Amino acid sequence: MAYQTINPTTNELLKTYANHTDADIEAALDTAHKLYKSQWSKGPIQPRLQVLERLADLIDARKEELARIATVEMGKLISDARDEVWIIAEIARYYARNAEKFLAPSKIDSQLGEAWVENHPIGVLLAVEPWNFPYYQLMRVFAPAIAAGNPVVAKHASIVPHCASVFEELVNEAGAPKGAWKNLFITSTQVANIIADERVQGAAMTGSEGAGSAIAAQAGKYLKKSTLEMGGNDVFVVLDDADLEKAVEIGVFSRLHISGQECICAKRFVLHENIADEFLARFTTAMATVTIGDPLDESTKLGPLSSAEAVKGLSKQVERALQNGATLHLGGKAIAGKGNFFEPTILTDVTRDNPAYFEEFFGPVAQIYVVKSDDEAVELANDSRYGLAGAVFSQNIERAKSLASRIETGAVWINTFASTAPELPFGGVKRSGYGRELSELGIKEFVNQKLVLVAKS
Ligand code: NAP
Repeated sequence: MAYQTINPTTNELLKTYANHTDADIEAALDTAHKLYKSQWSKGPIQPRLQVLERLADLIDARKEELARIATVEMGKLISDARDEVWIIAEIARYYARNAEKFLAPSKIDSQLGEAWVENHPIGVLLAVEPWNFPYYQLMRVFAPAIAAGNPVVAKHASIVPHCASVFEELVNEAGAPKGAWKNLFITSTQVANIIADERVQGAAMTGSEGAGSAIAAQAGKYLKKSTLEMGGNDVFVVLDDADLEKAVEIGVFSRLHISGQECICAKRFVLHENIADEFLARFTTAMATVTIGDPLDESTKLGPLSSAEAVKGLSKQVERALQNGATLHLGGKAIAGKGNFFEPTILTDVTRDNPAYFEEFFGPVAQIYVVKSDDEAVELANDSRYGLAGAVFSQNIERAKSLASRIETGAVWINTFASTAPELPFGGVKRSGYGRELSELGIKEFVNQKLVLVAKS
């Protein structure tokens, strides 16, 4: 696939980037592997953490420029792009200030003698990442990897090459040695070859199920560790004692965030029957009146989808949902004219035999379900092939906590939207993937947790 910057607001082609060759890949792996073998990876952690501190400062200093690059390249609102730039600096600082503690040896009480676990780097990692958070996804891998001493070769999505290049530039400017992070514009076949290479010890992948499955299969074949961060079909449960105004406001925000192209946003709205009509009426008004337009305009609340292909795919999905019996309550189609805009859309009457029931809609399309009880809400939430996240709205926190514990996902938010922070683990179960990124759990995914035991004398 060609690596191109195409502005999704206008569909103007801004730049095409040359692909890397097999010789470039060989050089990248050689450099990365030599770095892994060096004192830089295996020696004291502080020099690596200082790179992260400097990187965070560089990112802060270029916040506006970086935000504009992302907005022009993949279409997220400029305010969301600024938030993303802010959080990547926070992630870099978080690992800079906590990784030493996370990776310190931990003692084990054992009857066999003095025992402890040390955390060591494992070698070169591959990162394969999507476009929807074009910096955040990279930092989720880079910051823990460099702290642990694992060099990374990265394949970013082909529609965000500018973000990929500028991230690499920043890492280099922060003083990371050659090989710590190498961006590669490569094909799926080249990705598979990298996984097979003996110098590579792990693959971190975020994206769709198809791509995740291909990468996990190759990693399995060559016995490499992998983590998968896939899609989701998250519920947004509104109980009959919820603060409806807040639930509607957050529900609209969550469904339209990044034009609905976020893995952990509200996708299935599960409403208690006592508040369903009122919630739907208010939700519909808010969705129907949202300001759609140029994502660089501060007043815009819904920007374009990331590509013309994405609009085509979403249109087909909505059509298929309707052909299979869903009711179109609002919107439903692409907006004619320049750019990749799609109407805020609400589907009701989605039954279990409709393919839409199990699908992820990666765009501003909400599905509405009505339930009679908390048990029914949990049953519906768990009747999904995905298990990424979810949200519960109730003024009775104990009731909401009880639901949260029963929902089979990697995360549940109570009375808030799907928010992320460096210290909060991120990841899913079922077809949403496995492994965790961020937090202490994230940095432990790609380290050798080595036991050392001194026998009792
Ligand atoms: P995608 O098509 O799977 O692309 C993701 C990355 O995988 C891109 O770099 C892509 O490269 C690459 N890729 C695709 N097929 C591949 C293959 N066979 N071998 C190797 N690499 C391959 O995903 P997307 O549609 O861009 O992203 C949206 C999906 O990501 C959604 O399902 C969303 O929910 C999920 N997501 C999950 C998380 C999470 O943390 N759980 C976060 C964000 C997004 P090309 O661009 O060159 O095709």
